[in-house]
Amino acid sequence: MAHFSRKRVLVTGGAGFLGSHLCERLLDDGADVICVDNFFTGPKDNIAKLMANPSFEVMRHDITFSLYVEVDEIYNLACPASPIHYQHNPVQTTKTSVHGAINMLGLAKRVGAKIFQASTSEVYGDPNVHPQPEEYLGNVNPIGPRACYDEGKRCAETLFSDYHREHGLEIRIARIFNTYGPRMHPNDGRVVSNFIVQALAGDDITIYGDGKQTRSFCYVDDLIEGFIQLMNAPDGTAQPVNLGNPEEFTILDFAQKVIEKTGSKSKLVFKDLPTDDPMQRCPDISRAKKLLNWEPTIALDAGLDKTIEYFSSIKDLKI
Ligand code: NAD
Ligand code: UDP
Repeated sequence: MAHFSRKRVLVTGGAGFLGSHLCERLLDDGADVICVDNFFTGPKDNIAKLMANPSFEVMRHDITFSLYVEVDEIYNLACPASPIHYQHNPVQTTKTSVHGAINMLGLAKRVGAKIFQASTSEVYGDPNVHPQPEEYLGNVNPIGPRACYDEGKRCAETLFSDYHREHGLEIRIARIFNTYGPRMHPNDGRVVSNFIVQALAGDDITIYGDGKQTRSFCYVDDLIEGFIQLMNAPDGTAQPVNLGNPEEFTILDFAQKVIEKTGSKSKLVFKDLPTDDPMQRCPDISRAKKLLNWEPTIALDAGLDKTIEYFSSIKDLKI
């Protein structure tokens, strides 16, 4: 009974990298949290320390199937995020993005919950506008190997926008740019985890292509702060908002930084660039600054130190 006055929040994909940090933050803020996950890419270890908290509940569930729970807010994060994971079963990736969004939007409509979508910079594809503002409509290959994710996420944005227009649902859409930090999966193939794991093991650092492609890296705590602020933005904030760190690095520079920070003797090796790998990516965060007064505060050096410390603590680390 005592808990009925607390906000009840559903986090889909709550055992994943971002989801586990979000669950932790929501619990710290005094919410009751229901974490829904099918544990495809998020290990139970990520939420192990939350299990003792009576305000935290876990449900093993695949969001491509319908779900009914009484909640006030829904954060829809369920979806594999790394290219090797989302390309492992591309049809399931599209189903998770599209059927999953329909199921969660249906739930939000039924219980009158506010709903947040973890969208992605991938909706811009391989962009020819730089940096990318939310008004840019993107350059996505609809039939390439990344399309299951990119088009799935684009369709989810469409569904969110239509539920808002048609049913008046309170929606939030965050377009997340590359984010890193503790609890990234060591084997998910993303550049931050790959380079740190390779550097710590003294293995070759695998640069795809010539390494001149760019990315910008946001530390997880900054991103989660952005999630909370966006969810709490005034009613009617339905337009997508870029969340990411606008400091841009080439992949080569990033590799050098990881080598320096770990003191590694690893050598760089060059491999083929994956199909449709975007050449540049950097968020224009003017909208987030104006709307939420949000911008990242954790520099890459500081965030990398914490991330390297995390990976150093994992036993038998190997890609
Ligand atoms: P992650 O793979 O660590 O987490 C995704 C979680 O969703 C996992 O726990 C996985 O088991 C779960 N999941 C997958 N399919 C599911 C399904 N059908 N039903 C229930 N659970 C399912 O990835 P992440 O980095 O934490 O990303 C979380 C969200 O943020 C994703 O939607 C992703 O597209 C988005 N995003 C992340 C980044 C980033 O840099 N990390 C960038 C852009 C967008
Ligand atoms: N990348 C790389 N070596 C790796 C892993 C990734 O050079 O071992 C490159 C990849 O080709 C891309 C960039 O790093 O250009 C970011 O890749 P990631 O998979 O982390 O994210 P995304 O491509 O989705 O931004």
